[in-house]
Amino acid sequence: MNGQTSLCVREILSASGSRELAASVGRLYRHVDRAVAGSGFQCSNRGLCCDFGQYGHKLFVTTVELAYFVRGQGAQAPNTPVGRCPYHQEGVCVARRHRPIGCRLFFCQPGSADWQERQYQALRSRIIALHERLGLPYMYVEWLGGLVQLAEKAGLLAEPGALTPKPGCG
Ligand code: SF4
Repeated sequence: MNGQTSLCVREILSASGSRELAASVGRLYRHVDRAVAGSGFQCSNRGLCCDFGQYGHKLFVTTVELAYFVRGQGAQAPNTPVGRCPYHQEGVCVARRHRPIGCRLFFCQPGSADWQERQYQALRSRIIALHERLGLPYMYVEWLGGLVQLAEKAGLLAEPGALTPKPGCG
């Protein structure tokens, strides 16, 4: 996220309560996990790629992935040093069940980049269709920036009277 994209936090919070979202994204993630299991690549779970600043890596996610993540983990991330995913703690991912697609598909193993790209492109239309079905605006945002916006706006929306419907994202 570049600071200019305004995340649809209100819609994400609303969708996070949807059983249809839980079932649909759960199915999608199981599909991704099966593809990973059959890929021959292996994640040794060292967490190097979760330290984005050190690794020189950025993770991007879509709106439905954020809504599913909020459903499982809440909108307020733990405090963490700048540049590292706040869910990487004491050497492990503490949000493994709800982690987004990029976390599932990414391997630091040489030769995996092409496979990863092909997998994501094959999933893309399914992901977009899922947004349409759930009535959630499709956005593709940088993970750490998205988490910051989620936490800030969710905090504001939790204030009394703040959940008055308003048009558009924000
Ligand atoms: S959600 Fe988990 S796997 Fe993904 S970047 Fe954060 S710590 Fe790493």
